[in-house]
Amino acid sequence: MLDASARAIRDEIAAGRTSAVDVCRTFLGRIEAVNPLLNAFNLVDRDRALARAADIDRRRAAGGPLGPLAGVPVAVKDNLCVRGMRTTASSRILERFVPPYDATAVERLEAAGAVIVGKTNCDEFAMGSSNENSAFGPVRNPWATDRTPGGSSGGSAAAVAARCVPLALGSDTGGSIRQPAAFCGVVGLKPTYGRVSRYGLLAFASSLDQIGPIARTAADAALALAVLAGADPADATSSQEPVPHLTAALTGDVTGLRIGVPRGFVTEGVDEAVRRAFETALDTLRRAGAALVDVALPHAKYAIPVYYLIATAEASSNLARYDGVRYGYRARGETERGVREMYSRTRDQGFGAEVKRRIVLGTYVLSAGYYDAYYLKAQQVRTLLRSDYQQAFEQVDVLAMPTSPIPPFRLGEKTADPLQMYLADVFTVSANLAGLPAISVPCGFVERPASALRSESPSAKLRRGLAEAPRAEGSASEGGPDRLPVGLQLTGRVFDESTLLRVADAYERLTDWHTQVPLL
Ligand code: GLN
Repeated sequence: MLDASARAIRDEIAAGRTSAVDVCRTFLGRIEAVNPLLNAFNLVDRDRALARAADIDRRRAAGGPLGPLAGVPVAVKDNLCVRGMRTTASSRILERFVPPYDATAVERLEAAGAVIVGKTNCDEFAMGSSNENSAFGPVRNPWATDRTPGGSSGGSAAAVAARCVPLALGSDTGGSIRQPAAFCGVVGLKPTYGRVSRYGLLAFASSLDQIGPIARTAADAALALAVLAGADPADATSSQEPVPHLTAALTGDVTGLRIGVPRGFVTEGVDEAVRRAFETALDTLRRAGAALVDVALPHAKYAIPVYYLIATAEASSNLARYDGVRYGYRARGETERGVREMYSRTRDQGFGAEVKRRIVLGTYVLSAGYYDAYYLKAQQVRTLLRSDYQQAFEQVDVLAMPTSPIPPFRLGEKTADPLQMYLADVFTVSANLAGLPAISVPCGFVERPASALRSESPSAKLRRGLAEAPRAEGSASEGGPDRLPVGLQLTGRVFDESTLLRVADAYERLTDWHTQVPLL
């Protein structure tokens, strides 16, 4: 059951071959077994999940209608509000925040019958690429537990890869669904800006944020997006664009499809083994009948600076609400010293280093005298980048790039150098800047020498904290190198998630990368 797709689980429950409660117990047992090692969950609510599962079973027994996700266990990134469930964005400042309302995405999942099992760990306020910015400690990659699962939705991706849930929600501002999906060997879809309501998502950068699914197959991602997508009166930026029949789009056919490859952009800085996996994936699609076309994205080389100016500017404004008055943490005993002192100490104690760095940078680029040189200039280049994509999509149906230029790196490897961390987002941020949908699908593995700590006993490794822990199956035989997942990223036209899902699904039918299991 742990390896079953969300769709298969729903069908088994609907047919009465298993119960939602049994399914829920099985996955909760798996979470209990592996989460102490992975740290993928900030919170697991057993009782609530089992009660919801029992509701589904009662409804089935009564012959009532069952939703498209009836009885499917789902994990929700901890920056999405779930009524009555602690929601922290992995920040001290929201350590005790219990939302009085549901995010629309959460409400729609539950209306479709999904059973929320808990909240997943992430980088603080979704700012990061490695999950190391969480106030509750990093998540470990199920394929090599001394490495990052990616970020910021690292907990969601690790949970899906480790069979803790078949489906999870993430959010993606500059790659936070796609990059952890790539690092954990699962599928991650960032929908078109406006496709999914952002109501109830703790805002990072409002012109870039999107909620989307992380799953093990494109078909499950399609099933989830069909539930999540569509206009919402509570989010004025959600789109009225009709949602096509997403699962019907999965024909397995890519003949005649034109795939654009921005070769001038996918150049230096790309790991050689990642590049080989990428080229092999392109060749697989070409042999299935797709045509590869060289395209240019002349302004993509500015995407990183543009993203880190716009995202931090928006973050500095969005995070102003965490003032010790309206939400969450307040520094103790400061009120009598005056309100300014209270704000300042609350924010100093409540936010982590990366969040502070971004608030300072964002405030700077918006300040009088620098606004034109940085913020305004970044918005102008954003427009040029958007038109690069528009021109490319006159020639091709999708664009292909590696999701990440590098494989999952070791925990601690880049924490001292924020710029190196930011550069790893080179292929993901431009889809957010242009508002386009993009998906990451597993396309191979690269081998890296395993840590020398391997010969220790698993319990000694566990005690070691950040050091290495038990190996992954399919990864390496004892003594062999680590096998680390690589992701293929496909970017589509606005509101054309159907084509992305069709190509990803067709690619899965041609390969078996998505079926490999890390053994913990
Ligand atoms: N890694 C990027 C950042 O640190 C993207 C994060 C995200 O998509 N939420 O901002």
